[in-house]
Amino acid sequence: MSDLLTLTPEGLYCPEAGVHIDPVRPVEKAVITHGHADHARSGHGAVLATGQTLDIMAIRYGENFCGSAQAIGYGETLRLRNVEISLHPAGHVLGSAQVLLSSAGRRTVVSGDYKRQADPTCAPFEVVPCDTFVTEATFGLPVFRHPPAREEIAKLLSSLELFPEQTHLVGAYALGKAQRVLAELRAAGYQKTVYLHGALEKLTAYYRSQGIELGDVEPVGQRGKELAGEIVMCPPGQLSDRWSRRFGDPVAAMASGWMRVRARARQRGAELPLILSDHADWDDLCRTILETGAEQIWVTHGAEEALVHWCELNGRNARPLNMIGYDDGEDADVARAAQG
Ligand SMILES: [Zn+2]
Ligand SMILES: [Zn+2]
Repeated sequence: MSDLLTLTPEGLYCPEAGVHIDPVRPVEKAVITHGHADHARSGHGAVLATGQTLDIMAIRYGENFCGSAQAIGYGETLRLRNVEISLHPAGHVLGSAQVLLSSAGRRTVVSGDYKRQADPTCAPFEVVPCDTFVTEATFGLPVFRHPPAREEIAKLLSSLELFPEQTHLVGAYALGKAQRVLAELRAAGYQKTVYLHGALEKLTAYYRSQGIELGDVEPVGQRGKELAGEIVMCPPGQLSDRWSRRFGDPVAAMASGWMRVRARARQRGAELPLILSDHADWDDLCRTILETGAEQIWVTHGAEEALVHWCELNGRNARPLNMIGYDDGEDADVARAAQG
């Protein structure tokens, strides 16, 4: 057991500092790891997060998303009672952070969501040595091994070459994934304008305001068949929605780690599945656990049992958290954000 953290109905809680981390219900003081809707909710009293996460919350929920907000940069330390709190890059989406709590020589890290794959749109993950590591496990099964992003983007570009008359509609989550696909397209040399569904505009504009190069983008607006041969990006739900019919017979692609699972791709109506994830795959979860040097591993959202078992085989104490209120972090995000 970590003596710095306990589990409450609201989520992870540090009694010594009096803060919750990514609470699922309104609390007095919260540290927020990143802007995805299952981690960042509105209605808390005081919120501590990176400036970018605070900006993203304001974009999604409005300026009054909490009583008072305090920004803290990566690596800066803040003292709350006897506990030092600092945030460190998680490599998940813009502004995403791991939370390090330290007190009297004990160190606990809450990873939030994280990945180790390169991502031109956010700061790379940093290994933070600790005694207790709370890891996500969204893709915590050995079957999940993410291919390099550039291979997946190459699939999209070769489909465009093969079917130059068809609009290529790419379903991607509004925070993180959409911007990563854009950046990877640019890195692959695709320079044409990319058209965006309205639901992707604000966050994409925010990324650009933060100096992330995403090339030329334009709202789809009222256009339809005139976008033959172009790339159009939309939230995943729009792929099989009436909205997509304006493009005639588009090629429907979807960018998600879940595209490894054929049934999920079919369910999404994605004929061109692109395996592009903002979460660590099995190998990276295991590698990260070892690199932190932690003896205690707490496993949350995802395939908890498999990773717990792996930890035990590797001589770590591990426990599944079975927290309620977090989803796979990608799929439900857009739906939740749309609900506010
Ligand atoms: Zn998550
Ligand atoms: Zn997330």
